Amino acid sequence: MTKIINRFETPVLGEPFLLTPGPLTTSYKVKEAMLRDWGSWDVDFRKMTSQLREAILDLLGEGKKDFDCVPMQGSGTFSVEAMLTSFIPANGKTLVLANGAYGQRSAQTLKQAGRDVLVLDKGDYMPPRGDEVSKILKNDKDITHVVAIHCETSSGILNPVEEISKATYAAGCKLLVDSMSAFGAIPLEPHQVRYEALVSSANKCIEGVPGFGFIVARKDALEKAKGNCASISLDVHAQWAHMNKTGQWRFTPPTHVVAAFMEALRAHKEEGGVAARGARYAKNRDTLVAGMREIGFETLLDKQWLSPIIVTFFSPADPNFGFQKFYDLMKSRGFIIYPGKLTVVDSFRIGCIGHLDAGVMKNVVSAARDTLKEMNVTSAGPPPAAIQERQALLAH
Ligand SMILES: *Cc1c(COP(=O)(O)O)cnc(C)c1O
Repeated sequence: MTKIINRFETPVLGEPFLLTPGPLTTSYKVKEAMLRDWGSWDVDFRKMTSQLREAILDLLGEGKKDFDCVPMQGSGTFSVEAMLTSFIPANGKTLVLANGAYGQRSAQTLKQAGRDVLVLDKGDYMPPRGDEVSKILKNDKDITHVVAIHCETSSGILNPVEEISKATYAAGCKLLVDSMSAFGAIPLEPHQVRYEALVSSANKCIEGVPGFGFIVARKDALEKAKGNCASISLDVHAQWAHMNKTGQWRFTPPTHVVAAFMEALRAHKEEGGVAARGARYAKNRDTLVAGMREIGFETLLDKQWLSPIIVTFFSPADPNFGFQKFYDLMKSRGFIIYPGKLTVVDSFRIGCIGHLDAGVMKNVVSAARDTLKEMNVTSAGPPPAAIQERQALLAH
């Protein structure tokens, strides 16, 4: 019998699925696109860079004409640091909306750069709301910028960027968005939600391999960013100006990663763009969450805040459960999962993004069921304390 290869089966035989929010599972074609060397100054590569920038802008919808895209070498954090230190001047003051590790990292980045920072820390799983932002901005007139995390990948919460944006601009401030794990799957179109700049990277929802990020910013904000950044390599204005003038990156670009990204962009468009990508991920999430709940697992977040990017599950209270064992056994079944990043309760995370579909998610659930059996875990339910704590916080 010939086996029909599903396009979402593991791309290389024996390779586990990465249920991690970047690096993630990429298609065979994306990997294959890296089998050629490119001269970074050559016209063919310059053409690729220019097409890349255009294709990213196409994802912004109507408002794209006021924006430009600046790719930046390094992992996503390099691009976040580039955005924050290039668009926020030395005398600016920033309100960072934090509800997890990435919000905290933005605050730390600004502090390290000597910028004045105020942090609204919502803990692990509460969203920063528009009215809270309004209140803070009303009471502190020194604040010039607000930083929001679109999907806080620590918990998987989808933050209400639209109401945050309204509150920010109503107070005369400017919004910068870390949309790292959401861009390309969850729309953030500037004619609907106002912002100065957002940042994302190659290895998240576009499904490329790691190696660079990109800043998407208003052209007038890019003009004004000149001279703000104290770093040579992370200066967004300098990278933008040089790229516009020469078509080249200032320093050695990750050529193979860019080539892979072009293939990933092609597949993204072919699938149906942001809406279709988001719909596949939402289906992945729904299949995963329904199946895991059937086994007895509970999600950290209520449905309203569950992103289609990554889902946090409470670890079972059963004393036979241990994360490392669960991880190893899931890996032996072909799935690499992610440890939790919560500060209070034990948890683990399963990503819904990457080159995978609902059929793969069904197999993840079966693997989890078999793994619990093998570990002699009879109930996947979390400790009552975890649920109580969540209820108490949500009641606020
Ligand atoms: C992945 C991610 C980053 C960047 O992380 P790197 O490890 O530097 O690529 C930043 N913010 C969010 C919300 C992310 O999900």
